[in-house]
Amino acid sequence: MTVSAETLPWVLAGIPEVRWLHGDDECDCVFQRIGDWTNPYLGRTLRVRLCCIWAELYKQFPQFVQEIPAYYDQNEDAYYTRPADWNGDTEMSRALWHRQEAAKLGITIAQARKLLAGQTPPQGKERVNGRKQRGKQTQGSSRGSASPGA
Ligand SMILES: [Zn+2]
Repeated sequence: MTVSAETLPWVLAGIPEVRWLHGDDECDCVFQRIGDWTNPYLGRTLRVRLCCIWAELYKQFPQFVQEIPAYYDQNEDAYYTRPADWNGDTEMSRALWHRQEAAKLGITIAQARKLLAGQTPPQGKERVNGRKQRGKQTQGSSRGSASPGA
C-alpha cells in the first residue's frame, strides 16, 4: 500500500495493515461479501465485512434464513448436492477451493484451509479458438458457471 506524503501521521494509525477484499479468505463465511466505499473528496474509506455481520444477524433471525447444502440451478429448477468440478479459465481461487473441499468432505473451512496448505488449487483449462478444452467429463462438470461465488 502506498501512503501519500500528505498523509498525516495520526491518520496512519487508522489505516489497517490488511486490506479486506472479496475472496481474501480472512473469514470462514461460505459466501464472502465485503462492502467497500471510498471518496477522495471526503478523504474517507469504509469497508465492512458484510458476510460476518450478516452471519450474526442470521443467528438472531433463523426463521428468515434458508441455508441449503446444495447448488440451485435456476435453469433446471433443480438442486445439486455435489460441488461441481472446477471449469474456470484460470487457477481456482484458494478461498473458493477451501470452501469447495469443506463442502465435499463435510469439514469446516478452517479445517480445509489447514488440509490444503501448501497444495496447488485446481488449474484453469486452456482455450483453443475461444473454446475450452474438455477433459474427461465428470458428473456435474457441465453445469453451473465458473464464477467464484465465495
Ligand atoms: Zn465473513
